[in-house]
Amino acid sequence: MSVLINGKELAKEIRLELKEKVEKENLSPMLAVILCGDDAASKVYVRNKSKACDEVGIKFKEYLLPSETKQEELLSLIDKLNNDSEVDGILLQSPIPKGLNIEEAFARISPEKDVDGFNPYNVGKLVIGEDGFIPCTPYGIMKMFEKYNIDLHGKKAVVIGRSNIVGKPTAQCLLSKNATVTICHSKTKDLKEELKEADVIVAAVGVRALVKADMVKDGVVVIDVGMNRNDEGKLCGDVDFEEVSKKASYITPVPGGVGPMTIAMLMNNVVKAHIQRNHKR
Ligand code: NAD
Repeated sequence: MSVLINGKELAKEIRLELKEKVEKENLSPMLAVILCGDDAASKVYVRNKSKACDEVGIKFKEYLLPSETKQEELLSLIDKLNNDSEVDGILLQSPIPKGLNIEEAFARISPEKDVDGFNPYNVGKLVIGEDGFIPCTPYGIMKMFEKYNIDLHGKKAVVIGRSNIVGKPTAQCLLSKNATVTICHSKTKDLKEELKEADVIVAAVGVRALVKADMVKDGVVVIDVGMNRNDEGKLCGDVDFEEVSKKASYITPVPGGVGPMTIAMLMNNVVKAHIQRNHKR
């Protein structure tokens, strides 16, 4: 039987540690979130982020923009928040309405307030191994490895998915811990062939039960980032949890795995941004 990596508990611990830090050091961090359009899932994510901020003691400001917002209007709000000395972190919730350029918007967020780590400057820092802001989902995954003492040195790691927000930065983080990393994606010819020797698998695709028990070896460590709905409408991941958990040494559940860790690491990044900005003043 595998060990269940309890992201929910771990995230709670991290939020508590941050809350204590904020109180003890008398910090007053602030996160500004931009929500553009009416994506229903995004509204839920933003609400969860706001709740976590409340718990930690981070001030939370929400900016709601209508679907018909123009690129220039979005950029000018980002400029305003970049120049607002009270704001430590700026988060642009994705997706944003079609027709808007999210990459340009991410690049406009000041690197020192880029708590999601999507500005090319912070992406570059991650690649060259310098301290910057690491995107929250990969960062949360790395924290789980650390907390469960899972050694990555020399291990074969396969990341499924190559998005800029999860797949690519996760691969980079694994590489920085000396894993031998393979990235699979929609054009990969034989996923099973790539997975069968993997010591560690991170699935970040968005396809329910893509990873099946006959694709993985005994003792594999499995991190399931996927968020899908099953036929009953219940949240589930990219991994056939029931069967794969019989072979895995460690596995994350969905829900209760990567999701809460993503938000906890966002809180961590906002507190870090606040401390760094105040040291400069
Ligand atoms: P995305 O759609 O940007 O990327 C999906 C990736 O999967 C692509 O790179 C694509 O090439 C690859 N892919 C698609 N079909 C494939 C297949 N059959 N075999 C192999 N690769 C395939 O998605 P994303 O933003 O990276 O998110 C991935 C999943 O993770 C989604 O379910 C999303 O909801 C979830 N997610 C969860 C969290 C969290 O905090 N838990 C955070 C971000 C994303």
